Order: sequence, then structure tokens, then C-alpha cells
Amino acid sequence: MRQKAEFILAVLFLAGLIAASRNITRYVASAQVGKSSELVVLDAGHGDSDPGKVGVNEAKEKDINLAIAKKVEGLLKEKGIQVVMTRKDDTSLAEEGASNKKIEDMKARVALINKESPRLAVSIHQNSYHEENVSGAQVFYYSHSEEGKAAADVMQKAMLACNAENTRQAKANDTYYLLKRTEVPTIIVECGFLSNWKEAELLITEEYQDKIAGAICQGILDYLGK
Ligand SMILES: [Zn+2]
Repeated sequence: MRQKAEFILAVLFLAGLIAASRNITRYVASAQVGKSSELVVLDAGHGDSDPGKVGVNEAKEKDINLAIAKKVEGLLKEKGIQVVMTRKDDTSLAEEGASNKKIEDMKARVALINKESPRLAVSIHQNSYHEENVSGAQVFYYSHSEEGKAAADVMQKAMLACNAENTRQAKANDTYYLLKRTEVPTIIVECGFLSNWKEAELLITEEYQDKIAGAICQGILDYLGK
């Protein structure tokens, strides 16, 4: 009788050990998700047949997005941060002949971000509004992501530092496909309004693109704790 009790206890003890070791494995695995060492994905919005917003000065959003993204890439690499770009030239990520190019393109961007599993994904865009006087950079994050909000708040602060007139706050969103479907902290930086003459003219200059890229780089470094 006593032997049997001891046997049962031993079995229970072993079962407990196995369960504990499984939990540890699971814990370690979850801690690694999205924590590839200092890797950032930069996503220059739009490209190819999709120009994005078209400015009052005819500037195309896709070109400004790419120019700024490349500058941010250079600055981050100087700091030793690994960078993966979703596009490096004027292309779409959709396969040639895809039935719905825009959707395929967005799916490919999300798939790339999830595959790379960076600490942070930053999608670069330009805004537009039907009232010409609206201007200023604004950062968007997924409503249900605490890390996304933390990253957006840090990035918004960095963007405000390069434009004294801007008082915008980071904004939650729960409909943007990229924000909804990515499995890592992801933010969208709308650098400025192409519907505003002053901002549209600034956004096509090398100097202002450098300034914006510097702010985005700073926001990323601040978020990474660098
Ligand atoms: Zn856009």
C-alpha cells in the first residue's frame, strides 16, 4: 500500500516536472517573438502604378515615401541597426498580373514584416485632406496594440521636435490592413500633407526630407532604447 502511494507520488512529481519544463520552453519561445536583435523594417508606402496621394504641386506620395525611407535606412545603418526595406525602388510587391494588385501588394508587405519579425515596423506615408490649411506629421498605431501605442507616442514626440507649429498627437486606428495584420509593433508615419502648399513644397526638397528622416530615425532609436 505504502509502495503504491510512493509510486503515485513519484509519477505525479515527474508529470509536474514535464509540465514545468514545457512551460519554460513556451515562455522562452514567446519572449523571442518580435525580438530579432535590433532589426527594423521600413515600408515605403505605395509604388509602381499606385502613386498614393498626389500633391497640390503634383508631387507623388510614392516618390517622397521612398526618398525618406532610404534616408532613414542610411541613418539607422550608421547606428548599427539592421534594416529591411519592403521596397527599394519604384515597384509594387504584387506578382505581375495579380488580379487585384493593391490587395496583393498589401498582403506581401504584411507577409514580409511577419517573416522578418522586427522589433518595430515603420510604414512611411504622406497625408492629404480636403482643407488646404491642414498640415503636420501624425503617427498611427493599431488600437489593440500597447507596444504599437508606445512606439507611436515616442515617434510622434520625435516628429513634433522638427516642426514647432505641429501639435498633433499619435492616433489609434483599427481599420488599416497593415496595422491589423502585422504581428509585431507597427506604426504608420504620415510625414506631412500633400494637400497643403507649404508642406507639399517642403516635402520635395532634399533638406526637409533629411530633417524628416532624422526625426524618424530618432523616434526609432528612442523606441529601441538606443
Ligand atoms: Zn499612403
